[in-house]
Formats: sequence, structure tokens, C-alpha cells
Amino acid sequence: MKIAIIGTGYVGLPTGVGLAELGNDVVCIDRELSKIERLKAGHITLFEEGLEELFNKNLHEGRITFTTSMKEGIEKADIVIIAVGTPPHPVTKEADMKYIHAAATELADYLQDYTVIATKSTVPVGTGDDIECLISKRNPNANFDVISLPEFLREGFAVYDFFNPDRIIVGANSKRAISIISELYAPFDDKTEILFVSRRSSETIKYASNSFLAIKIHYINEMANFCEKAGADIREVAAGMGLDTRIGNKFLNAGPGYGGSCFPKDTNAMAYMGRQNDINLSLVEAAIQGNHQRKKEMAHKIINAIKVNKAKPRIAALGLAFKGGTDDCRESPAVEIIEELLNLNADVIAYDPKALNNVKDLLGDKIEYANSAYDAMCGADILVILTEWDEFKLLDLDKVKSLLKHNIIIDLRNVLSAEDVVKADLQYLGIGYQV
Ligand code: NAD
Repeated sequence: MKIAIIGTGYVGLPTGVGLAELGNDVVCIDRELSKIERLKAGHITLFEEGLEELFNKNLHEGRITFTTSMKEGIEKADIVIIAVGTPPHPVTKEADMKYIHAAATELADYLQDYTVIATKSTVPVGTGDDIECLISKRNPNANFDVISLPEFLREGFAVYDFFNPDRIIVGANSKRAISIISELYAPFDDKTEILFVSRRSSETIKYASNSFLAIKIHYINEMANFCEKAGADIREVAAGMGLDTRIGNKFLNAGPGYGGSCFPKDTNAMAYMGRQNDINLSLVEAAIQGNHQRKKEMAHKIINAIKVNKAKPRIAALGLAFKGGTDDCRESPAVEIIEELLNLNADVIAYDPKALNNVKDLLGDKIEYANSAYDAMCGADILVILTEWDEFKLLDLDKVKSLLKHNIIIDLRNVLSAEDVVKADLQYLGIGYQV
């Protein structure tokens, strides 16, 4: 099938590459010229495990192309997938629809034969109706259907998740669109449930799912606080809870709070939609508030652990991405905690295996950057682990001890074995249990 994807970011690019790998003819459109030029020249623009190989293969075999021209992409497409950003509005925190509205208006001019317009971006309930109106107003002769096709990929696992989705949700009110989308997803028929629902239900499923996961994280973090005080161990408590299939064992890792480009913005957008509809979404509101507070608590936990009375402690911070396996630093807890540490008068030297370039755009010269985990520790007072990269699990603890001035490791992701750290004669502070 011929597919155009508008927006070539963390969702659009892996989706485009995945659909090309399945044999479709894919055109990725983005308004950012430098991004398109890099992609055309064979340079990948974001890090995702396994993406670069598939991208190169499909580029060379001619199944995926890149352009800034809507005309080029849309005219021949059977399906147009919208995957532009829906960032939080700076004041109200509702989903800002300016990119969606711009994309819908721009594509309208080039629709020719019947086309399915599928919204993959996370959009407020009723957006499908708005897109339909915008396109019809702009191009009254256009023959199209708008469907909702929410994306559930996890950053860091985008390629795996594309080929192995838990479920595919299609929100469509038209039989013709359902038949075309069924053909697109035919390769998944025998292994993945494809659930067809109304467009508004589909739009709601995405927000309801992300809000639920955010609440689950907030809950386990509150339980971790309880365990620290009550002498229990959150790792054991989570393992016990996770054996209950009604609860499930995922998303029970206590840590520094949720972040990334989705949960913070989607919970805020959900809360906003609740208020607009006079519905009390108290759990969502509590998760937002608690998660915000969590970053401050973590910074204080770090500062309080530095027992030396030092005016400007130097902290080695490992991990900057919002989670391991990605270079994405949007709303990263690591970044927020570092900003809080700077407010508390600390010096920070940071390292991340993939996210250094992205974080420089956010923190600039407010902190120092190291080329390796051990470089960061040279002359630092203490070590803090902020993101759960695998390489941090393998730190040589004797070397760590030789580099740090004060022998303290604060592990906000519980990636190290507390027993090993203590054996190496270092003090250990994790989340949700006392050593
Ligand atoms: P992103 O910022 O990485 O990419 C968006 C891209 O769209 C950018 O490259 C931008 O230049 C481009 N763009 C914006 N307006 C355009 C226009 N009019 N024409 C052409 N290109 C345009 O965003 P993302 O992380 O890929 O997220 C996209 C959407 O998917 C959001 O709604 C997000 O909530 C949702 N989503 C994201 C994830 C994730 O893990 N990142 C997962 C599920 C859903």
C-alpha cells in the first residue's frame, strides 16, 4: 500500500520504517528540512534499538523516502498517518493542537482519490471530528475518512513494539476505512488482537491507558516511601503484588517518578478534559501532583545524604534520558532532579551513553558533561544513578570507590545490588528499602 506519514519523530520514523519493512511504499514528510536532509542522506535522526539497520535496509531498497513536500507525499497515498507532536499548552496544559490543525489543513489540498487519514498522534476526544471539518472546509471535494489509530510503542523498544504490539486499536466509523486498515494490519492478524471501536472511544483509550500507567507508577512510589519508613523492601513488596494477575508485574519499579514526552503531558491533558467535562478525575490529578513533588523529594534525598558540610557539593550524575534505551530527554526526571540540585547549590557533572547531545539543549552550560561514567566520578563527592542504563549495572565498584571523595552511591533506579555495594565498602541508598 502507499502510505504517507506526516511527522518523522519518535513515532513517525519507527512507524514508517516498520511499515516499509512490511513491504509498503512509505513517504515520510516533515517540515524540518535539516531532519529530512539527514534522513535522505542515510543518517538516522534518533536512537532506537535496531532502527538504524532497518532504516538503511529500506532506504536502499527504495521502500521508504523522505520529503518536506506535502504534495509529493499525499497525492498518491492510500493512507495518510498523522504523527505530529501534541505538546502541552504552556498555560492550560491541555494538548496543544496547532501541529495537528496545521497538518490537516496542509494535507487537504492534495487529497485526490479516496484516502484514509489516520491519527496516530495522541489527541483529545473529538479531534477526529475537528480534522474532518477542517479538511472538508478546505477541500469540499475531498473523498476521505478520518480514523483514530493511537500509538502504544514504548520508547527504547519502538522497533520491537512495532512488530509485536500488545494490541492494535482502530477507531473508525466507516466500513471502507476499516477494510483498508484491516488490509494494512493483515500481517498481524494471527498474533495480535485488533480491536475496532468508535473514533471517540479509541481517542479515549489512549489517554485512559497512559493515565492508568502513570497512576500505577505514582502508587508504587508512594508504597516505596512507606516501605522506607516501615522497614519493608519495595522490591519484595512489588514482586509479591506482581504475582497477582489482576495487578500484573509491569510498572511496579519504584523510582524517581515518571517522565518522558507522554505520561506528563497526557495526564495533564486527561485532567484538563475531565475539568472541561465536569468530571472529577481525582486519581489523575493526584498522580500529576505527586509526580511533580517526587522530583523535589529526590533532590532533597540526595542533598541530605551528603553528610559533609560542604557549601557546593560536586555530584556525579549517571543517566539523563527519561529512561534507559532512548536518547529522549523530554520531561526527564533526571533533568528535573539535576535542576533542583542546582537550585540547592550543588555542582553536577553528568554522563549518559546516548542522551548527552539532547540534554545539552536543555541544560547548556549549567552543568559539566563527562565522556564516561568513570570520568563523571573523578573528584565528585558522591554518585547518583538517575536512569536505568544497563552499563550502570556493571560498574566496577572498587574503581567507583577509588574515584569518589565520599563513598556514597544513591541509586534512584535500584539498578545496583545493595549487598555488592556495601561489600565494596561504599554506602548505598536506594529507593524503598534500607540497607
Ligand atoms: P516528535 O516531536 O518526535 O515528532 C513530531 C514531528 O512532527 C517533528 O519532527 C515535527 O517537525 C513534525 N511536524 C510537526 N508539524 C508538522 C507538519 N505540519 N508537517 C510536517 N511535519 C510536522 O513527536 P513524537 O514523540 O513522535 O510524538 C508524536 C505524537 O505521538 C504525539 O502526539 C505523542 O503524544 C504521540 N505518541 C508518542 C509516543 C512516544 O513514545 N514518543 C508514543 C505514543 C504516542
